[in-house]
Amino acid sequence: MKTSCLNVRKSKNGNGVFADKNFEHGEVILYFEGKFLDDEDIEFGSYEDQHGLQIDKRTYLVSYGLDDFINHSCSPNCGVKEFNGKFILVAIRSIKKFEEITFDYSTWADYSTWMKGPLWKMKCSCGSKNCRDIILDFKFIPLHLKKKYIKLGMVPKYTLEKNKK
Ligand SMILES: [Zn+2]
Repeated sequence: MKTSCLNVRKSKNGNGVFADKNFEHGEVILYFEGKFLDDEDIEFGSYEDQHGLQIDKRTYLVSYGLDDFINHSCSPNCGVKEFNGKFILVAIRSIKKFEEITFDYSTWADYSTWMKGPLWKMKCSCGSKNCRDIILDFKFIPLHLKKKYIKLGMVPKYTLEKNKK
């Protein structure tokens, strides 16, 4: 799969999305596009469950495109932002051609507010020196990281409201 400036190829954790050109800090990498699904319509363990972007407490944006292959990193080069009702992936630093595109999955994760059963968690092997080993909901990440991500505008409204308390 390939667009003019991104392509999917093998990364150290399965497939990943790679830059096919240099990106500048602040540049839009891609738009998340797809259908909006209520969590009740998503079967546990399904493709939608594994690839949906949580955009509200109970709503997921599920696409079937390039964004499904973007891996998590604890030292990401991109962040997800909401802009005029659209969800975009933006470079938070300059990115070199051939570099893997990543964002921190914890920034858009607040599953434990409604999920019954065990907490959402994912093992991480991103290899960054700041690797947290286990990826959890935003509210469980270290305070300095929360502040950094909030400042960058990479944290959705539904999470921010709760973290004000
Ligand atoms: Zn990591």
